Amino acid sequence: MKVSQTIEKKLPGRPKEASGEELLRYEGLWVDTFRGLRDGNPEGETEIAAVPSLFIKRSGAGQEQLYIEGFGKPPRVIRQQKFSTTPDELRTWRSRVQKEHDQFEEAMLNPAPVRIKVAAIPSESRLWAALKRAETATQVRRIYSQSKIWLKPRLEFPNGRFIEYWPFRRILYKGAEAFCRAKLDPRYPGRDQRKSGDYRRVEYLARVMAGLTVRLAPSTAVEMLRKMKHAEQCICWRCLMQIAPRYPISLARFLAEGNWFR
Ligand SMILES: [Zn+2]
Repeated sequence: MKVSQTIEKKLPGRPKEASGEELLRYEGLWVDTFRGLRDGNPEGETEIAAVPSLFIKRSGAGQEQLYIEGFGKPPRVIRQQKFSTTPDELRTWRSRVQKEHDQFEEAMLNPAPVRIKVAAIPSESRLWAALKRAETATQVRRIYSQSKIWLKPRLEFPNGRFIEYWPFRRILYKGAEAFCRAKLDPRYPGRDQRKSGDYRRVEYLARVMAGLTVRLAPSTAVEMLRKMKHAEQCICWRCLMQIAPRYPISLARFLAEGNWFR
């Protein structure tokens, strides 16, 4: 059987089209990476829902018992009194079980918000400075390999396991040459001496890297992101942080004042 159809020729290493949305998302991720490399994260607090985790009722022959695991609390085991056989004792036990169960369900459905501490993450400012100085791909790759935190694509656990949490960071290694070339572009604010100057470099380099991540030429990505319009109902990272282009404060100023997602 012959089927005539136009098969889109897949050019190696080139997706059909990079959406502006994806580009914008990676811009945010790369800003996070370079900003973190430069400044690290201070200790912070975040609010999460305290969802209880486990409720087990063990019955059968003899004593019944409840096993309840709340949020951030040691588990509780409640045992029925031995030899509680009178109707009154049984009724008391039943209502106790019911009460614990209701409380658990209520906490499941309406978990109370709790604030938890988020540990500080140190900067790797030495690597940020080196990245700005780097002139060759080899230098960039060496810097990438030296990073223990911010340029690593993997989140590692003490037991030796890991997850590939930031796969996009590998693009810095792969695109090391394009990264160096992009710093020669006149749009790179290499000599901006203002306090916020370094954050303009963060923004520019994040745009370059976002482009490389979605396989766009860095200069195309820089232009696309610079001219991007954000609708009034836009909920991208920039609009959520209330910065340019929809809001008057620029990313560079916002970062220079020490703000970022925590
Ligand atoms: Zn937006």
